[in-house]
Amino acid sequence: MGKVIILPETTKDPISLIGRRAGICWGSSTDDPEKNYKRGLDCIRSGHGRTWEFVNVEMVLEGYSARVIREWYTHIGGSPTRLQASTRYIDYGEFEYVVPRSVKKDPEKEEAYRAAMHEISEAYRHLQDAGVPKEDIANILPLGMATRVVDKRNLRNLVDMSHQRMCARAYWEYRDLFRDICAALREVSDEWAWITDHMFVPKCELSGFCTETRSCGRMPKKH
Ligand SMILES: Cc1cc2nc3c(=O)[nH]c(=O)nc-3n(C[C@H](O)[C@H](O)[C@H](O)COP(=O)(O)OP(=O)(O)OC[C@H]3O[C@@H](n4cnc5c(N)ncnc54)[C@H](O)[C@@H]3O)c2cc1C
Repeated sequence: MGKVIILPETTKDPISLIGRRAGICWGSSTDDPEKNYKRGLDCIRSGHGRTWEFVNVEMVLEGYSARVIREWYTHIGGSPTRLQASTRYIDYGEFEYVVPRSVKKDPEKEEAYRAAMHEISEAYRHLQDAGVPKEDIANILPLGMATRVVDKRNLRNLVDMSHQRMCARAYWEYRDLFRDICAALREVSDEWAWITDHMFVPKCELSGFCTETRSCGRMPKKH
């Protein structure tokens, strides 16, 4: 249901940009695109994280739940910024919402879930007709309602996010959201495809073992 739209301000050639920025500090010429690309790869493989902060990602996330966006907001490294759809100005009488797979697989559960959402919607309309302002009715909206954010952050933040949110212990909707981001970035350029294939990995792939208390078993525990 969710959708990721990559905005044109996103860096198109992230690896080459890293190489160009690093070249300035290494006293190298930055005129040769091939050398820039190679230097960028070297910075990535060497783990020189500051250089990754020059790569900009701007995107719209829409149709994901307010709940997963609440988790999205915990990734604050590098001071990302964002705007979220207003609950004061937008009419949520007919709000969209996310239906979890555990609910969808059983018609009875799905019916109960949708009935609860419908009831909230009815109450919203009722209060609106009674003259309560939208900003106050918004308090009854569920965390499962769909929202929209426009977001700006750097590559280093996304790499770090991937380690937490591609982990099997992360909330399923966040894992889906991160997969959607990877798919959308892959479409931007071959350099982004390389980044999504090589830099976006769960934390166990970095450390070679699982750091979570309750492991999924993909990697051995450290002790
Ligand atoms: C399985 C799972 C369960 C979770 N459960 C909960 C929960 O119940 N409640 C909850 O609130 N959150 C929960 N979280 C979110 C988690 O606690 C973090 O808020 C989230 O992972 C983002 O923080 P971060 O440090 O990973 O990323 P960022 O904030 O983006 O930080 C990235 C890196 O930057 C550095 N950094 C960032 N800020 C600072 C700083 N102030 N000082 C020094 N260095 C800094 C650190 O090296 C950090 O690793 C959960 C996450 C997972 C994956």
